[in-house]
Amino acid sequence: MRERSTCQAGQVSETTAVTVTFAGCGDAFGSGGRFQACIHLRSASLDAPVLLDCGATSLTALRRCGLDPGEIGAVFVSHLHGDHFGGLPFLILDGQFSRRTAPLVLAGPLGTGQRLTEAMECMFPASSQVRRRFEVSVVELAPGRTASVAGITASTYPASHPSGAPALILRLAVGPKVIAYTGDTAWTAAVGQASAGADLLIAEAYYWDKPVPHHLRYADLADHAREITARRVVLTHMSADMLARQRQAIHETARDGLAITV
Ligand SMILES: [Zn+2]
Ligand SMILES: [Zn+2]
Repeated sequence: MRERSTCQAGQVSETTAVTVTFAGCGDAFGSGGRFQACIHLRSASLDAPVLLDCGATSLTALRRCGLDPGEIGAVFVSHLHGDHFGGLPFLILDGQFSRRTAPLVLAGPLGTGQRLTEAMECMFPASSQVRRRFEVSVVELAPGRTASVAGITASTYPASHPSGAPALILRLAVGPKVIAYTGDTAWTAAVGQASAGADLLIAEAYYWDKPVPHHLRYADLADHAREITARRVVLTHMSADMLARQRQAIHETARDGLAITV
């Protein structure tokens, strides 16, 4: 496993390797000047790169990393909060205005299709009904299921995070590599189950140890360390409180533009 010093995710040498670029790794409120959740996965085993979450700031985050939004073949959405799915209308409209032709698959919780239509109509009236040169398809994933989406085997686990739809913890098999992502969730045994033996767990660490409902704290990850068997853990979605203490964490911490290979 190697870490790259820049956010430019280049070609990887191994056909099974996955380059994970944290284009955005912040919380909802711009703590530390960070972009909202937008994690870019590229692998020679995939036809096109995919995103894990697409927060409202994602197009800026991707372009800052030199990553082309028009290349994205699929987006896996953990839950329907704006800092995790609010960038989808912009991604779709960018494709429309840039004359995209490649299909785009959006995989998210039950209710994703309706919430996406509502978000598009709220922000850009009539935009949800426009005929486009490219197909946008929505795949709704119930918790506890496994589905094949865009060449990835995606397994979903129930997160504990009210967001108007059943929030998901994701376990993605990209070729032989397994990447798990907590999204936002209070501690649940599903975090350990979703990331069992994974090559990488991307874990929310919102606060250090302050009790806060519906979110993971660093203290939760420390308390349940025995249940976390992923080979590598990278912390994300950090508040100002957590950012100030991140050097005390035993895990790696993300920053916008960090690119790693697993
Ligand atoms: Zn969030
Ligand atoms: Zn959330």
